Amino acid sequence: MLQDYHIHALAHGEYQYTYDWLRTFVIAARERGITELGFSEHDEYLSRIDLAVLQRLRQEFPDMNIRLGLEVDFIPGREEHIREISRQYDFDYLIGSIHFIDGWGFDHPDFSHLFTGKDIDQIYRSYFELVHRAVKSGLFDVVGHLDLIKIWGHRPRKHSVKHYVEPLLNSIKAAGMIIEINSAGLRKPVKEIYPAPELVDLIFSRGIAVTLGSDAHHPAQLGEGLPEARQMLIDAGFKGIAGFDQRQTKLLPLE
Ligand SMILES: [Zn+2]
Ligand SMILES: [Zn+2]
Repeated sequence: MLQDYHIHALAHGEYQYTYDWLRTFVIAARERGITELGFSEHDEYLSRIDLAVLQRLRQEFPDMNIRLGLEVDFIPGREEHIREISRQYDFDYLIGSIHFIDGWGFDHPDFSHLFTGKDIDQIYRSYFELVHRAVKSGLFDVVGHLDLIKIWGHRPRKHSVKHYVEPLLNSIKAAGMIIEINSAGLRKPVKEIYPAPELVDLIFSRGIAVTLGSDAHHPAQLGEGLPEARQMLIDAGFKGIAGFDQRQTKLLPLE
């Protein structure tokens, strides 16, 4: 089976959370063999989520498991606010993501030039420290796009990425968290799934479970790259992926 747990129906606010619009995502999912899908808006659009729309979709598509997730920006100091957010709806899962380093939206094309001339190792260190803090906050179920910092193709020189990720995996394992396999990296200059295959091998060897997500911001992107992501998991040895229901995990078969 295929799963897509990272879907932004509202994209960056340009669409409306209507039954007709979300329905196009569900139909696209069904066409692509995805039976487990989760809408995971950016938390800034929280107030635009309409549970009645999801309820209607669940009734119309009883063959599909339609979940409610949320992708939350982890920024130190926001913890209390995030705790409040998490209580606003009966979320099936919360994805914790780092999109900002000290206010720098590093994954946004308008700010990608700020990598130029910088110490990439220092940027990697800062990024993974923030991921580590998100994990230790205990606020999230899923770690979003683990190595997003590679988005524009910048690689560290002094250390391998494993150097930054290995201690983090220990904390993720200890926290019982899930790591997302996010195919959006294939659409970006790095042209690589988040996280990279060498990290997926480490994740498997630690016994950490994973989810799949395309980070679709439009129905056309739904499920894109997920067959490749699934194959990467099978190659690494995974037999199943994690599903969520009301913030409880269950293992789903990968094939
Ligand atoms: Zn994200
Ligand atoms: Zn996203």
